[in-house]
Amino acid sequence: MKNLLITGLLLLFVSLSKAQTFNTFYAEVVANISESNLLSDLTTFEKFGVKTVGSPALTHTENWISHRYESMGYTDVVLQPFTYRKGSSNNIIVTKTGTIYPYTFLIIDAHYDTINGPGTNDNGTGTVLLLEMARLLKDVETEYSIKFIHFSGEEDGLIGSKFYVKNTVVPENMDIKLVFNIDEVGGVSGLTNDTVVCEQDLGAPTFNNAASSAATESLAILMGLYSTLNTQISKTYGSDYMPFENNGEIITGLYEKNISPVNHSANDNLENMDVGYFYEVVRGAIGAAMEFAVAYETSSLVEQKYYERILKIYPDPSNSYLNIEFDEPLEDEVEFKLMDRLGKEIYTKTISEQNFRFATDFIASDTYEAVFKMGNKRFVKTVVVE
Ligand SMILES: [Zn+2]
Repeated sequence: MKNLLITGLLLLFVSLSKAQTFNTFYAEVVANISESNLLSDLTTFEKFGVKTVGSPALTHTENWISHRYESMGYTDVVLQPFTYRKGSSNNIIVTKTGTIYPYTFLIIDAHYDTINGPGTNDNGTGTVLLLEMARLLKDVETEYSIKFIHFSGEEDGLIGSKFYVKNTVVPENMDIKLVFNIDEVGGVSGLTNDTVVCEQDLGAPTFNNAASSAATESLAILMGLYSTLNTQISKTYGSDYMPFENNGEIITGLYEKNISPVNHSANDNLENMDVGYFYEVVRGAIGAAMEFAVAYETSSLVEQKYYERILKIYPDPSNSYLNIEFDEPLEDEVEFKLMDRLGKEIYTKTISEQNFRFATDFIASDTYEAVFKMGNKRFVKTVVVE
């Protein structure tokens, strides 16, 4: 969507001086993006034609997206139907379950409907970016769950995302860590496209604005770490994150800096965008998503056995206290969390000594997961508290 004047937008240049640090594992995953996949997907998207709600072109696109997830091996691919004056359409919702916080979600979304033209930039770019991200993250473990959502009806007034918030987020009281919206990130052919806009919430309600601002500053830093792009911070408007924002969720988004003069027209095609710029946006967005979802490296069997050998947790079952003991001195601090069945933290501690003990008599009798975070690795052990 996005028909708006730049005037009055808050434009801030962000310095690359804050919290997020470069993660070599994330960079390895980012390095695996396939430019030929991206180009071929954009071409396919373009060839479907004008994807207005009610058109066969949109249905073909929907089928293509769903099949792509299924062929990647995703099993939780859900179509959410809705109907309005234009006709019926579906949001496509794909869930990847997190290992530590399965009931807390990073939502990464892009609309796949278009208006007046093939919409290769608006929003073939967001659509294809999600597909490539999902491909690369398929077998990467993340602490938080991710929902990849392809909304429809965006061009008619955010119909699909409003429907999702009203009929899923609100009734299910979904715990959303962050909404990360991608809409029109293809740049403009013939111009120098070296900057991506990271969008923060400046609107009402305002209680969630500081968190959006922090997430957006992180996003800008992460885009800088994993792509060659410069970043600029501006405000959120006119896309699928807005219904989430109205519900009080924390939102952020990516948008092109040079704004396409041909969006919402028959000329919104590959020829009029800058594919090299788009590849960089994909790189940055994947690095950012890994940070937001807290991706980590799966331990090898040898590493698992090593942790099992050096790490003792006793007594099991625990009655009034738990001892945690490492057989070897720690090289680095270990982050420890005791998680309940609902993915809620019961106890957390940064461990720097080889032995420590904590009282468990304040904890309800149940089965818990003891999670140890060591750099990019995790070790998880089930413990019973009586
Ligand atoms: Zn759009």
